[in-house]
Amino acid sequence: MTRPVDPAAGAERFLAREEHEATHDRLVWGLRQKRDAGVATIAEWEELRELASRIKEHTLAHLDRYLEQFEANATKRGTHVHWARDAAEHNVIVHEILRARGAQSLIKSKSMLQEECGMAAYLEARGIEVTDSDLGERIQQLSREPPSHIVIPAIHKLRTDVAALFARELGTDPDDTEPRTLVEAMRRNARPRFLRADAGMTGANFAVAETGGFVVCTNEGNADIGAAVPPLHVASIGIEKLIPRARDLGVFVRMLSRSALGSPITQYTSHFHGPRRGGELHVVLVDNRRSERLGQPEFWPVLKCIRCGACMNTCPVFRRAGGLSYDATYAGPIGVILDPGFDRSKYRELPFHSSLCGSCSDVCPVKIDIAGQIYAWRRVIAGDGLVPLAKRAGMRALGATLARPAAFRAAEAAAHAALRTAPRALLYNGLNAWGRGRELPAVPEQTFREWYLEHRRMS
Ligand code: SF4
Repeated sequence: MTRPVDPAAGAERFLAREEHEATHDRLVWGLRQKRDAGVATIAEWEELRELASRIKEHTLAHLDRYLEQFEANATKRGTHVHWARDAAEHNVIVHEILRARGAQSLIKSKSMLQEECGMAAYLEARGIEVTDSDLGERIQQLSREPPSHIVIPAIHKLRTDVAALFARELGTDPDDTEPRTLVEAMRRNARPRFLRADAGMTGANFAVAETGGFVVCTNEGNADIGAAVPPLHVASIGIEKLIPRARDLGVFVRMLSRSALGSPITQYTSHFHGPRRGGELHVVLVDNRRSERLGQPEFWPVLKCIRCGACMNTCPVFRRAGGLSYDATYAGPIGVILDPGFDRSKYRELPFHSSLCGSCSDVCPVKIDIAGQIYAWRRVIAGDGLVPLAKRAGMRALGATLARPAAFRAAEAAAHAALRTAPRALLYNGLNAWGRGRELPAVPEQTFREWYLEHRRMS
């Protein structure tokens, strides 16, 4: 059985520097607020959500047909299409494409699928120089850390963190935290690598069955540099990225950036239809347990996800604990429902790393009931006996108390008295992780029940 990740320990590491919590919360919540403002400009937003959800559900219900259609149309346009059953096969295919063409260096734009496959480490171990072209991804690459957010990979880092990293890795002044200087230092470091790269890699946000083309959305244009400078372009595409028709793109493109950042559209929405003149284009269609998920009545809706990150930006746990605390490829609510599907034992704690407030379901542009799926994963994990003994015993006791009104009233009275009289050190001590970083509100004179009974009598 795999050792489980420990999100509480991960959060503790992130929160060791106090400024991290407030800054991360402010930045990520700011994205949620921008999303709300962006959404408010579209009167038919709810209709769009419904449409997006139905298009995805329809595509998933006929995925075999659309995948074959995509392959046939892409091949007609001169694209080489490969099929990968899992992460290992994906990496072997990519390496073989590069090896056969003598490619020694690669620039890649942001692709969560390539993260999922552990591709960069695989290729580097075989002598290929891999350079991320997305600024946030490159920061994470230099830090030897995975992305902490699927849209803004280094959002957990303070300016001072980046300055210290660049001083160590690029020899810049550690006290110069000016974003313009930092970006310029990165440009000087990365640009020569971009220009001499033998191959470029991208992911894809959408692949269109009707045309055999695919679309990559970025704000820095970095996917385009990878696709336009080296002669060889390889794109990794999860099989759930299919949509049937080019006209369906209009629905998703309107929603993606608004949900992610609140902006009407990404700065670059690049369409690829076959290789450019004199170049070569390869597409690797990756399953990696997606078909298995498609067959799971409770969990298949997660395949509708368009990786906008809106659920992360609204999640109170993600905002305060940071994405690296999940210790998984995917963090936040989307990670909580994706990661256990890859390794249930390793990620058994993640579904409990949630307040189940349901805000994630409310903002999801493709109407995934994320909170419902988190709850379903809790049931599966409990059914597998993967919940720690102490928590199981606690839940059993709580269930028994809540099921008996007299027991509940007695427990409520006892807790009320204890909270009013117990010494503070009982709750706030080194042994109680809950008390670190949290303050209970002042305990009122009456319990809610006492207050309610009194006022009901008066009315
Ligand atoms: S689950 Fe929904 S809100 Fe979260 S990343 Fe996917 S599409 Fe966006």
